[in-house]
Amino acid sequence: MKRVSTAVAFAALMLTASVPASAQNNANLQIIWIDVEGGAATLFVSPSGQSLLFDTGYPGNGDRDAKRIFAAAQKAGLRQIDHVVISHWHGDHVGGLEALSKLIPLGRFYDHGDGVETVDRPRLEGYKAIAGAKRTILKAGDTIPFPGVQTRVLVSEGPVIATPINGGGANALCTNAVRQAPAGPENIRMVGLSVTYGNFKFASLGDLDWSREMELACPVNKLGAVTVYTINRHGGLDNSGAPALLGAIKPQVMVVNNGPRKGLGAKDDRVKPIAAPGSAPYEANGYLRMAKLPGMEGIWQGHRSLLDSDPAHNTAPDMIANLEEGPTDQGHSITASVAANGSFTMTNARNGFTRTYMAK
Ligand SMILES: [Zn+2]
Repeated sequence: MKRVSTAVAFAALMLTASVPASAQNNANLQIIWIDVEGGAATLFVSPSGQSLLFDTGYPGNGDRDAKRIFAAAQKAGLRQIDHVVISHWHGDHVGGLEALSKLIPLGRFYDHGDGVETVDRPRLEGYKAIAGAKRTILKAGDTIPFPGVQTRVLVSEGPVIATPINGGGANALCTNAVRQAPAGPENIRMVGLSVTYGNFKFASLGDLDWSREMELACPVNKLGAVTVYTINRHGGLDNSGAPALLGAIKPQVMVVNNGPRKGLGAKDDRVKPIAAPGSAPYEANGYLRMAKLPGMEGIWQGHRSLLDSDPAHNTAPDMIANLEEGPTDQGHSITASVAANGSFTMTNARNGFTRTYMAK
């Protein structure tokens, strides 16, 4: 009898626990790069079952992106998304929010503030209507409470983070580093986020531009070492991907949240580097700039680039989540499952291909 009553009590505990069972059974940090066709939407589920969504993809298309985020949340066993961070007010990052808010309860909201261009103002106003009093305006150095996981805001309108994290310090790559003129205002105000779990260090700077990357990288590398990095600008690297930053943070694994014809593979021909005499040369091709970084162990892509489908300018097909565009595109995601000891396994949902890495 005693055994039975213990089992009943345990079952009751499981039923009343606020944490979903599937998350509760998983001691790992889960990261899901949801395919939003060249927008951005990355879902984090902490070992204790808390959730944080960084960006919400595009609007429209029958609420495609909101539905894909909802499906990923359901698969992760979530009944709500606890934290929603919006990097900036462009449609490929905040556009899916309104539809998503009708599919699943959303907890708290975080953003860079009310600085906005006229064209983006309706999106800001729509966000404010949804967030209401649950809104927090971030500044660099802030943390978002996420049990068991250390979050840090690296940049958000205003000065970048003051104190280096994750072993950051003086950066030798700043000598003769190539500079570029600032991009449009939204890509300067951007929220950039670090998520650290034990020895595993994730960072994403959204669409942050080269000039702001240089503030984070020079003269001091404020990001320190990064294990997994979501490359800026969906891999297009037009006015981003400064070698002085990428070479200093030395990502072991990169994820490219590109679309079939967005980001990676786009010609970087509208930006004129400010090439001071003696500036260090750098690789113009975005894919090769990533692939040639010392210590690079793997690049994972949301899509094969159809802007530049040269196999030498795309990662191995097994590490590409989506090969097609149009009706045959199924929106497969890329996931990381991160153990407390720094071991992490990346998975391609299209073919089940996995690779396990160890955070340095
Ligand atoms: Zn974007």
